[in-house]
Amino acid sequence: MLIAGNWKMNGLSSALDEVDALIRALKAHPAGPDVLICPPATLLARVVARTGGAVGVGGQDCYLQSSGAYTGDVSAEMLRDAGASWVIVGHSERRQYHGETDALVAAKAKAAWRAGLCVIICIGETEAERNAGREEEVVDRQLATSVPDGATAATTAIAYEPVWAIGTGRTPTNEEIARMHAHLRRELVKRFGESGSAIAILYGGSVNPRNAMEILAVAEVGGALVGGASLKAADFLAIIEAAPKSLYQ
Ligand code: PEP
Repeated sequence: MLIAGNWKMNGLSSALDEVDALIRALKAHPAGPDVLICPPATLLARVVARTGGAVGVGGQDCYLQSSGAYTGDVSAEMLRDAGASWVIVGHSERRQYHGETDALVAAKAKAAWRAGLCVIICIGETEAERNAGREEEVVDRQLATSVPDGATAATTAIAYEPVWAIGTGRTPTNEEIARMHAHLRRELVKRFGESGSAIAILYGGSVNPRNAMEILAVAEVGGALVGGASLKAADFLAIIEAAPKSLYQ
């Protein structure tokens, strides 16, 4: 099970205190799910130094080229060099505010693999798409075109993040999460065979200390991608501690 925190565009140097608090707390409970912190790129190397390998550290995005005249972009190789082991690609905020297409997301995922990073590829429908009953059609397209051939559990996790649940305090019901994750599992197995059965499918969208235990207990939920509630060590720790123990002991 993987519990990943996406800080988004939040965090100045003072946020490193939250990292220290989290690491102190995790040391007191060493057996737990895999934990990943994805801070802004400006803090990444410092978070790596503070965590000392106790948790994974990831980027929130990467560009597809390894270096060159791409002002403002950060390559997967740069993230790796700064100590990252993971990168998120295809987050709905990248798709929405930066016009990222499925093809670009797939190219970024390949760039991550090239650099030796594991990748979390985000997919999920908008509210209008769900209201129109098109959620499976949308995620099927995203899965088919944002996830490159060759994805395995060792290199890739999928985050199902209904766009309408991100940062809104609203979540699908547990039954809706179960239905979608079962659907995604079938699609992954159809496409990748045996290795598709092991690729983790994270749920993301308004996970918090109050709902984490029941969401993480839903069948085929292999972890969580957590935004707002990952910013405070106490909240993130409560989510980490809500992971079903049978899955990692
Ligand atoms: C996210 O940013 O991926 C996310 C799920 O955000 P939040 O937990 O704040 O809804």
